[in-house]
Order: sequence, then C-alpha cells, then structure tokens
Amino acid sequence: MSYTQLYTYRTLEFGAFVRKTEGANYSVLGVPFDFTSTYRPGSRFAPNAIREASQNLEAFCLRRSFDVETVGLEDLGDVDVLGDVEKTTDRVKCIVKEIVDAGKFPIVMGGEHTITYGCTTAFDDIAVLSFDAHLDLRDEYLGKKLSHATFMRRLCEKFGPDRFFEVGTRALCAEEMAFAANRKVEYVTSLQIIRNGIDKTTEDLLAWSSQFRRLYVTVDMDVLDPAYAPGVGNPVPEGLSPTQLLEILERIISSKVVGLDVVEVSPHYDSGLTAIQASNLIYNILAFRETSNKQ
Ligand code: MN
Ligand code: MN
Repeated sequence: MSYTQLYTYRTLEFGAFVRKTEGANYSVLGVPFDFTSTYRPGSRFAPNAIREASQNLEAFCLRRSFDVETVGLEDLGDVDVLGDVEKTTDRVKCIVKEIVDAGKFPIVMGGEHTITYGCTTAFDDIAVLSFDAHLDLRDEYLGKKLSHATFMRRLCEKFGPDRFFEVGTRALCAEEMAFAANRKVEYVTSLQIIRNGIDKTTEDLLAWSSQFRRLYVTVDMDVLDPAYAPGVGNPVPEGLSPTQLLEILERIISSKVVGLDVVEVSPHYDSGLTAIQASNLIYNILAFRETSNKQ
C-alpha cells in the first residue's frame, strides 16, 4: 500500500468543476497541521477553507485567457497529521515523493509553513523561491529546532543556502539577517519591491533561478499586506498587494517550477478573504504554468 493510500483522507474537493482526474497532471494535497504555530494558530482549518473558496471563484485566468477547468487535476484530500512535527513532515515528504514519482505536480495547502520542509525534501535537486514576510531562518525558536520560524534554516543546511531566494521580507531578527548575509541567502524586501518596481525584482529572480534546473515555489500568505490577507498566523504591515504578487509570479512561473505550496492561512481571523486570496493564487499559478511555454 502506498503512503498516499495509508495517510490521507478525503474531504471537500478543490474546484467546483468536473475534474479530469484520469491522467491528472496536478495533485492537490491538504496538510492540516499547525502544532508549532505561536501567535495566531488555526491554519489546520485552511485546506478546507481554501477548497470552499475555490468552489466559489471563477477558474478562468483573464491574464492568460486560460481556463483552469481544462487542466487535469485531482484532490487527494488531507494528510492524516500527527502531533509531532518531525513525523508529520516525514509523512508529507513520503506522499509528495509519490506524487512527484508519478510524474505529477504537487499543490500542497497548509497548514503552517513548517510543512514546506516535508514538501521540498521530497525532491533530490531543488531550488526554493519563498514568498514570505519572514525569513524563517532562526536556528531555534521557543525550544524547537524544526518549526515555522526555523525550517528555512534546516533546509539551507540540507540543500545549501545559495538555493534559496526569499521575496517580500519585512520581519526579521538580527540573527537571521547575519545568517542570510554570511551564508548568502538571497532576499528582497517588500519595501525594495515597492520602491524599485516589479521589473527590477523579476529580473533579479530570473537571473538567480537561471542557475537551477528545477524550482519549488512556497507562498506564505503573510507576504501579502494584512489589508488584503488579514487571516494569517503572523501578520506584518507593509506587505505586497495581490496584484504585485501576481505580476511577479506571472513573470517567473514556467515549466521549470515543479511544486507549489500555499501556507499560513488562519481562517478564523477573517471572514474568508485570505482563503479566497490563496485559492485565487493557486488558480493563477496553474494558468501561468500551463501557458508559460506558449507565450
Ligand atoms: Mn513563513
Ligand atoms: Mn511569514
């Protein structure tokens, strides 16, 4: 029996359309895990909040004139999580590896950001583009070596720090800043994006990503300004607008991107808006990827 059969259960399904699950290229997976959340927990409720939003949004991408309903997509349901961060991320890793080994593209809905550790370690050769207000590069946080505030540090140790680019940064501690400077973890702050513009940002991101064969994209929803996405675990002012984020994503998403997660929606802190943003991002990223070779 596969890990997917063993460790997932069915819930709502992503998208209101009749899916082409037969021969699907994309596998949606929920990870309702928020055990290390420290400020505003509740991202365990996000996968179904994002699914519900997805059923009430249009799946047609006007930017690319592309109907996401034509994409082969399956929803595997949610991971049966444990109260242990290492065991849960390991379970996520096993399932994502099965998705990737089957030649499919994983779309993982958190849960807290720590689950990205499980998703990315399922790949042998990967570079990670992280959209986040935070660097998540602490060595330890509240006594934990693996948590939403430290997992990027663990990933840097595993894959090498040059394989990470963080976008939208505006909340960091001196220790993380020093680590990023010493180990050359690339990051661009939200203020730099707002001041220097999208063109400069995407130029830098494309120059960096050209070194790598395969890219993984993780979106911590707190990269958006709390005005647009108030329902997150750790909101920080001066974030990106949904348009700025989508403009960047539209220019950098290509078939080189082999996996995606969208994390940190904490749905009980708003009236559904942040889950709508998350769902809209997933639809648009799917459209960008499907049309990237046709531009
Ligand atoms: Mn994060
Ligand atoms: Mn964050």
